[in-house]
Amino acid sequence: MNASFSKYFLIWFLPLLVAPGPAVYSQAEQVAYLQKQLAGARTDSAKVQYLDTLIFRLVTADRIACLHYLQQMDTLTRGAENGTGNRGIRAGDRGRYFVGKGYYHFYISDYPASFDSYYQGLKIYERLADTANIAYSLYGLSLVAGRQNDLVNAEEYLRRAIALLEACVLTPENKMAIVHSFNSVYLGYGNLMISKKQYEDAYRYYKKAEAIIREYRLEEDAGTLYCSLGTCAKNMNRFGEAIELFQKSLDEYTRTNNRSGVALIFSNLGHTYKSLKDYGKALECYFKSLEANENLDDNRRSEIVHRNIGVTYGIIGKSAADTAAKDSFYTKSIQHYLKAQGYKDSLYNQENSRQLAEMQVRFDTERKESAIQQLGTEARLRDIMLLNQQSELRAQRLEAAAERERALLLEQNNLNTMLDLAAKNARLRENEVLAQHQQQQIELLNQTNALREAEVRQQRAQRTGLAAGLLAFIAISFLLFRLYWLKNRNNREIRRQNREIERQRTEIERQNAHLAESSKFKSIFLSNMSHEIRTPLNTVIGMSGLLSDTELGPKQREYVESVKFASENLLALINDILDFSKIEAGKIEFYPAPFRLHELLSKQANMFRVNATQKQLDLQLHISPDVPPVVVSDAARLNQILLNLLGNAIKFTEQGRIDLSCSLAEPSANGELLLRFDVIDTGIGIEPEKLPYIFDAFVQAGDHTHLRHSGTGLGLAITKQLVELQGGHIQVQPAGGQGTSFSFTLPARTGDMPAHPAPAAHAAKLPGRKILLVEDNHFNQMLAKELLAKIMQTPEVDVAENGAVALQKAIGKAYDLVFMDIKMPVMDGLSATRAIRAAGITAPIIALTANATLGEEERCREAGMEDYLSKPIDPKALHAKLSKWCAPAEQL
Ligand code: ADP
Repeated sequence: MNASFSKYFLIWFLPLLVAPGPAVYSQAEQVAYLQKQLAGARTDSAKVQYLDTLIFRLVTADRIACLHYLQQMDTLTRGAENGTGNRGIRAGDRGRYFVGKGYYHFYISDYPASFDSYYQGLKIYERLADTANIAYSLYGLSLVAGRQNDLVNAEEYLRRAIALLEACVLTPENKMAIVHSFNSVYLGYGNLMISKKQYEDAYRYYKKAEAIIREYRLEEDAGTLYCSLGTCAKNMNRFGEAIELFQKSLDEYTRTNNRSGVALIFSNLGHTYKSLKDYGKALECYFKSLEANENLDDNRRSEIVHRNIGVTYGIIGKSAADTAAKDSFYTKSIQHYLKAQGYKDSLYNQENSRQLAEMQVRFDTERKESAIQQLGTEARLRDIMLLNQQSELRAQRLEAAAERERALLLEQNNLNTMLDLAAKNARLRENEVLAQHQQQQIELLNQTNALREAEVRQQRAQRTGLAAGLLAFIAISFLLFRLYWLKNRNNREIRRQNREIERQRTEIERQNAHLAESSKFKSIFLSNMSHEIRTPLNTVIGMSGLLSDTELGPKQREYVESVKFASENLLALINDILDFSKIEAGKIEFYPAPFRLHELLSKQANMFRVNATQKQLDLQLHISPDVPPVVVSDAARLNQILLNLLGNAIKFTEQGRIDLSCSLAEPSANGELLLRFDVIDTGIGIEPEKLPYIFDAFVQAGDHTHLRHSGTGLGLAITKQLVELQGGHIQVQPAGGQGTSFSFTLPARTGDMPAHPAPAAHAAKLPGRKILLVEDNHFNQMLAKELLAKIMQTPEVDVAENGAVALQKAIGKAYDLVFMDIKMPVMDGLSATRAIRAAGITAPIIALTANATLGEEERCREAGMEDYLSKPIDPKALHAKLSKWCAPAEQL
């Protein structure tokens, strides 16, 4: 039913018709008033309005009356949609009937029927483009969905309702109806958020409803609102506030004499006191709720309250001191559980009793019919008896007549002749024979009657049997039909749900396909971008490195250093992005090995101290004495983590100091260690509300970053992943006073350094090695040749500008080592390597590529290469590779 409209109607019209006084009327007064109005209503449409309001008023108090009014409404509004209904009835009135029916069914917990009704109402209002009522019907559907735990659809209906209401243009005519729908929908949304345990959201929506209630003075809804806000506060464990709000709601409900509301609030207060462990008060409230609920016919509430009383007694019993008290509380608890169960059963029984009542009516009719038949039989028996009596009478009369005649004959004996006498005697005898004959006939008749009577008795017995059989048959047929109907309805519902699931599955598949496609494009894009940027960067870094080794004036040196710094930053950025995409794809790997931890930390501190000193910051390293000098872990990744944290610390600190500390988070056991590192600065700090998000990708705290500090917001995201993937934990806190403190733990093991290998640098310093450099970019050729020349003495470097030339050259000359670019015109590096290996050439081939994306190294190895070096070429890495693959001949 359009409850909003009805409430609106009541609020504005009721006071006009009742004598002046306080504008609050009891439920009974309101109902009586409405019934009077209904009786006097002139038009059918007005009747529908009163019926509608009556249904809303009576659904909790008197369901039978409610059903009765609903039937009246049905009759009145039939045919309203196609204009064949009663005069004056409007299409919207039919919608109102369906919404009312939905509301009624919702209250008697017949959710499928409720859903159907609301849906039919919705369709009618949609045809009429009546936004306020469309929204209200959607609200009804969401109630039903919510009660059946279908929270997704419940939310969807409310979303649709809100969107429609927000888009609706207000006019003086529709304003109040829209306002009421808005209010219901907001309250509904709040309730839904409570079901989803999103209490903050619920609170927000209730507050929206409160604004409407205040602005438009919808006093009738104040009770509901405070109740909802109270529920919200209770769920957020703000019990004091909850009790205050429930009390306010209770006042409202008491003022408007809304007993169902009072019952609800006492039950809520009970729950709240129970949560506060004030079980005495909780019980007091529960009993008050039961009292208010009496005669209300709300078995659901009774069930909930009894169950909670049962639970509460159970809790009290558990902590009772002596066994006698325990027993008594447990007994009470069980009693209330049983009562709750009884109410639960009665909810189910209500439906059964309704069906039983219908059957009873049918049986009564049949019984009456058979009684009427029986009456017929008895009447016939009475006739027979009457006939018997008449026959007897007739025999008696004949006897008497014969007597009289005999006396007469005796009298005339003297007078008449013997002949006459004889003749008369003969007649007399004849009469006697006749009488005897008649007597015999009467006996025969009696016998026949007795026989008929037995027959009738038998027939009656047969008929009773038949009637009973028939009744049983009807009852069974009815039950079977009901079962069939229920099954059909369930099947329809299941089919509808299946269709919905199928639709959602297709949608998910479509989105998956789309995601897979975009992920593929992302990988391709990353790989291309990486290659395209690394190639020129290789030249810039390499050349500036070479340039800085030449003779330069102070200005030139400054310029070159700037170029080098900027290009190295750019490379770090690309590395970050690649690292991040590797982490996202779960492709990052760790290589634990023994390393000198103290040394690594000192190197890091020294490196950063240079930058710190430039900003006049003090950088101190503290290593706890119990930290072993050599540990087994991934040194490169530890370096990367510290680089990020120390880099940030210096970046975001303008004055003061930076402390790097290393200690043991817990004492070592069986060689297992948990290292703890702290990086603490006295810089600008991070706003407390940003702290929870600081490790998310692309997050930069505060606008300061745009103005004075560069960065992508990836550093901390990568750092966190690197720590956690190794089994550690990272956290950030504001440092005491000012600044930021990052600390992380890292599992490691104690270990020993392997025996020193021969210094690699010497191995590389071998003259006369023959090297084939396969590279299409002219600058990169120059750079590589320069670097090789710096590391090795007089190497013999041949250059091939693509894979095809490389193949020719490799066949023509025995090289000690091949450096192979991958992306080249004519023939790429992978094909060239395969061709070289196919030609039986075994010289080691090292990939030299700007493409540092996922899987690139594996592809190179699969093609037959031995090793991999990414561009821009790091002179140290090149040195290491040369040492490894270009060692003295006897080692190869
Ligand atoms: P970015 O590349 O922007 O530095 P990070 O992920 O390393 O990315 O850091 C994210 C944000 O966290 C930074 O932009 C900065 O706002 C904040 N931040 C990180 N470390 C500190 C610090 N030591 N002091 C203040 N703010 C910091």
